[in-house]
Amino acid sequence: MQQKVVTRFAPSPTGFMHVGGVRTALYAYLWAKKNLGSFILRIEDTDKEREVEGSIEHILESLKWLNINWDEGPGIGGLNAPYLQSERLNLYKKYAQILIDKGLAYPDPYTEKELEEFRNKAEVDKKPFLFREHRPEKFDIWDGTKPLRFKTPEIKSYHWHDLVYGDLSAGPEALDDFILIKSDGYPTYNFAHIVDDIEMGVTYIMRGQEFISSTPKFLSVYEALDIKPPLFVTLPPIMGDDGKKKLGKRDGAKDVLEYKKEGYLPEAMINFLALLGWNPGNDQEIFTIDELMSAFDLSRIGHSGAQMNLEKLDWINKEHIKKLGIKELEKNIFEWLPENLKISKIIPILTERISKFGDIKEMVEKGELDFFYKQPEYKKEKLIFKNVSAEKISENITKAINTLKEIPENNFNQENIKNTLMQIADTLESRGEILHPIRYALSGLDKSPDPFIIAEILGKNETLLRLQKAI
Ligand code: GLU
Repeated sequence: MQQKVVTRFAPSPTGFMHVGGVRTALYAYLWAKKNLGSFILRIEDTDKEREVEGSIEHILESLKWLNINWDEGPGIGGLNAPYLQSERLNLYKKYAQILIDKGLAYPDPYTEKELEEFRNKAEVDKKPFLFREHRPEKFDIWDGTKPLRFKTPEIKSYHWHDLVYGDLSAGPEALDDFILIKSDGYPTYNFAHIVDDIEMGVTYIMRGQEFISSTPKFLSVYEALDIKPPLFVTLPPIMGDDGKKKLGKRDGAKDVLEYKKEGYLPEAMINFLALLGWNPGNDQEIFTIDELMSAFDLSRIGHSGAQMNLEKLDWINKEHIKKLGIKELEKNIFEWLPENLKISKIIPILTERISKFGDIKEMVEKGELDFFYKQPEYKKEKLIFKNVSAEKISENITKAINTLKEIPENNFNQENIKNTLMQIADTLESRGEILHPIRYALSGLDKSPDPFIIAEILGKNETLLRLQKAI
């Protein structure tokens, strides 16, 4: 029987979730779902100094918004509970004891000052500082008051296979007697994640490139414990918009919930993130989550940096907006509109003009939608089209009024309005001679939705009033 696929996302609560973190979570999630496996969420909160209050809630909220649902983890529990490393300290002690019993772990006998001296000496000698060169000959008994260090069993080169980057190797310089458990009782990341991945039965580890250089350390611990490591899936870095600089927490990569606030759809965000480092091998660009689950494949994760392209995000979001049913569209759009503009007829106009729902807020703030409920103010010269005379423009508007009057009120819709006005427009030298002043008279804006739809929304009375005023 094939082994069940188990993946995990293991963030440290050291700040807000950004695009890179969410993409890691998404790939781990998709791979688990595709293989009918399970996806675990584990919080790596062992570095109390770097922990930022509220980060755990932020991680959970971000994943929930995007519907990256964990099968086991905080809030829902599971076979391997608890899922906060700070609540699993006994487990790390148990594994530490196994290493102590094998003679592969020992208490660090030095004071801070002594360590500082070793480091300074290495610097003067222009050599890297290696703790193992100061390893004591005899190990004391560990009473928990000192850091517990790993006794690297063998200094050698490690060769391993990464499912994205292929065969990798790193030499002895990467190996040292690193700390397993600190004097505050908390394990280090280097040790804790290995213990948890073993205990939770994780079969694939997805994470960023920054962990490649430490992999020999991890492999030496697996070897010391006599346990086969999971498969490594290293994800490519995400580059900024210019394609050069890596996007990271430190250089201002944005909080993923900001995208929610700006009115992006979660399904569009997922679609965008999936393509940030993975491609389906064909030209499909718009995916539902179900389509992603079946198309996603580790073999198509790229090596080179994936570029964060916000224009592409906007395009993908617009495509997903188009897929929404009328009810959902209305719900999303109304959320951003003031009460007096919550009218169904406005929905197609807005849908056409936005790439994310937050654009509506901007339109409202700039007053671009005011003309729907109040007579627009504008300079009368604005009604003039090119060098057509004011008399001619006025004559055209009069014609428009006369023919529009003929349309019965209950048939005053955009098709009829368009047909009527186009008949006049086609007799003129240029259609703009009539369409421009009408657009202006109705909206007072240089750029507005087409005048037929505005007229329909305003209704016959208001349309005729505004045209009359223009004359
Ligand atoms: N806690 C690590 C981080 O947030 C996770 C690394 C891993 O996935 O092993 O960077």
